[in-house]
Amino acid sequence: MPAQILDIAIIGAGSAGIAAARACREAGVSFAVFEARARVGGRAHTVEIDGQPIDLGAHWMHMAEVNPLVPLGHDLGVTIIETPDAYPYYVEGKRQPREETLRLRHAWVETEERALALATAGNDVSVAACLPQLGDWTDSIAFNHGLYSGRAVEEISAFDYARVEDAGNKFPRGGYGALIERLAEGLPIHFGAAARRIDWSGGPCRIEFLDGEAVLASRVIITAPVMVLQSGAIAFKPPLPRGEAQALAAFLPAAYEHVVIRWRDSPFDAGGDQLTLFKGGRERNISLLARIENSDFHYVEVGGKLLTDFAGSASEREIFARDAALGELTRHFGEEATRGIEVVHVTNWWSDPSSRGSWSVTPPGKALAREALQQPVGGRLFFAGEATSPTQWGTAGGAWLEGTRAARAALEG
Ligand SMILES: Cc1cc2nc3c(=O)[nH]c(=O)nc-3n(C[C@H](O)[C@H](O)[C@H](O)COP(=O)(O)OP(=O)(O)OC[C@H]3O[C@@H](n4cnc5c(N)ncnc54)[C@H](O)[C@@H]3O)c2cc1C
Repeated sequence: MPAQILDIAIIGAGSAGIAAARACREAGVSFAVFEARARVGGRAHTVEIDGQPIDLGAHWMHMAEVNPLVPLGHDLGVTIIETPDAYPYYVEGKRQPREETLRLRHAWVETEERALALATAGNDVSVAACLPQLGDWTDSIAFNHGLYSGRAVEEISAFDYARVEDAGNKFPRGGYGALIERLAEGLPIHFGAAARRIDWSGGPCRIEFLDGEAVLASRVIITAPVMVLQSGAIAFKPPLPRGEAQALAAFLPAAYEHVVIRWRDSPFDAGGDQLTLFKGGRERNISLLARIENSDFHYVEVGGKLLTDFAGSASEREIFARDAALGELTRHFGEEATRGIEVVHVTNWWSDPSSRGSWSVTPPGKALAREALQQPVGGRLFFAGEATSPTQWGTAGGAWLEGTRAARAALEG
């Protein structure tokens, strides 16, 4: 642990923390990063299974045109590929004709436009209130909007939903987590350093860790997920002011997990990285990213209401997610076609004490919690992460931009 008083301490080595650390390195100040886990990347983490890079967290480079990780990836020589622009849509295992898929796409766009039109920051409604009526398709579309947001549509602010930038998607070859890990090379990161208390009562801030160690820093950038902060895992002395405490309390954890399967004789096109949608119901649905990097690995996406409503233990949650994924695939393609599926990994970000959810959602009327949490506290505490990004929340690119913003504010302060 550093013995001197640091100019800046950074809590967390995910996308936001790494971006903040790189900005501090560039500015030439004294700084260090303190990370609870034994690795970098946080909710962006690539593992290798039988030689295939598998993203257990972030995989899509969302808002690609304005995502800072796209040019940084290019600089590292990472191949960044376009996402296919047509999404196959399946009903009971049958690929739908182009008109049906276009109808689905139209419904997505209509929801976004209605959310934009209906919701303002001061008069917010839920995404549920913006759904177009599409007969027996409505429930399925409602569930999928919730799946990609990680909560039921009734619980999501339409204002927050609609203000997300729409700027295309790309994929980095070799995994998003691996790219972000490379961007952390050479940074002074202390692993296994779980902050448990930040004393900002006077003089330099004192950060105490679970193992009894402590460091002093003039300013602290806090990038631990808001759900971790809500749990009280990091205490503040004195407690955070009312405005920040209320902003923090406003967020809801999103549930979104990857059930990673190997499906050698999968019926999906060999093109690779193909998002595939299914017609499900209001309570249960999945989506699939088929043939990752043209391999026989697939990510079944399970989440939203299906998982936020689940009340069992951590291990029961993983079994539930696995069974939901396999159950839906079997329902669509039959036992014969799905018999060969091998489940190789089920993520559980919801139960992980270092994340406690996949990203953060704001309920109707609470979207401005993101801006509120951007405000420096006492000129010494600076919050950053996907949760503080108003227009790229829930993404690794948004977290990166927020880490850079918080570092600039801390460097200026
Ligand atoms: C399954 C899944 C799929 C996703 N898909 C995408 C996608 O395709 N594209 C996309 O852009 N985003 C996606 N996301 C979201 C994206 O991963 C996150 O928004 C982003 O990685 C968050 O970065 P962050 O720096 O804010 O937080 P994190 O990455 O969570 O970093 C915070 C760090 O703080 C550490 N920490 C926690 N507590 C403490 C403590 N007490 N002391 C010290 N350190 C602590 C954590 O270990 C972690 O390393 C996905 C997430 C999940 C879970």
